Amino acid sequence: MSEVTFPDHSAALAELVGQSSGPVELSHDPVNTAMIRHWVEAMGDHNPVYVDHDAAIEAGYPGIIAPQTMLQAWIMRGLRHTMALEEARATGNVPTSDANSTMMALFDEEGRTSVVATNCDQEYFRPLVVGDRLLVRSSIEAISDPKQTGLGHGRFATSLMEFFAVPNDLVTKDVTNEELVAKGELIGTMRFRILKFRPGTGAQAPAKKPPRPRPAITADNEFYFEGLRAGELRIQRCVDCGTLRHTPLPGCNQCQSLNWDYVVSAGRGVVYSMVVNHYPQVAAFDYPLPIGLIELDEGTRLVANLAGDASTWAIGQRVVAVIEQLDDELALPFFHHDNA
Ligand SMILES: [Zn+2]
Repeated sequence: MSEVTFPDHSAALAELVGQSSGPVELSHDPVNTAMIRHWVEAMGDHNPVYVDHDAAIEAGYPGIIAPQTMLQAWIMRGLRHTMALEEARATGNVPTSDANSTMMALFDEEGRTSVVATNCDQEYFRPLVVGDRLLVRSSIEAISDPKQTGLGHGRFATSLMEFFAVPNDLVTKDVTNEELVAKGELIGTMRFRILKFRPGTGAQAPAKKPPRPRPAITADNEFYFEGLRAGELRIQRCVDCGTLRHTPLPGCNQCQSLNWDYVVSAGRGVVYSMVVNHYPQVAAFDYPLPIGLIELDEGTRLVANLAGDASTWAIGQRVVAVIEQLDDELALPFFHHDNA
């Protein structure tokens, strides 16, 4: 079988670093209470500073603020625009002038046609308040040398998005988005990293079962997955009031403290609820797939795998955790029947 060879576009890619990925984009709407309310309802966030003017003032804000994590939602282009773009791509009518499209085309020519998002880091400098209008300026911050990764031979690319706010009344037909950015205040950034890689060049042979999907590791839950790799099932604990919580959160729902550590669970509990999943089937799993909502004896609950034959499982059964190292990166708890 002949080896396919690909060009090396290192020099052309290096020239793209630091370049703008496209025009500055302006949010469709100013920051408004309706979108905030829908967001916090969907997220289950009951902090009153997002919905109650008086509570926001009392907390020291100039008025109702938007959740910081909503940052990108304000500038999303919407379904119609996305569908139009996909249609254009399907007919080969792709805008190639911007640096991002050029970069992606170069990656493809290098044979790196597969893509996976690997990191998303956000920084917030001040909260958005109702009436702010958001703009985003995007650029290519970094492109790595080719690397052998578990998924395949690829390059990492980091996009930097800088979010600026201006008062909505500055937005008129006569002023360009670039002029608005110059008047705006930098209120947050997002760094989004992808890996573009050659399919079939990863650690696993393509015929083998693919690895389990990766959890999204954040500053809040990193300790949990680190713990599993160390053979510990950890439960986050509020340092100030001692309340245990799972899933991990930055602050305590009981006393609002941001100080936390963890305890190590004894790994025993009860099947509080469960499902047996049949469809849709994902190649990384075996079916039927029993999944339990486990109530640990320490009091917190977690969603986890139930081990073995799905038909042996029922709500109320006692369980004990066995932590399995599934691959180089990922360890997860599997709950077995507790016959002790
Ligand atoms: Zn607390």
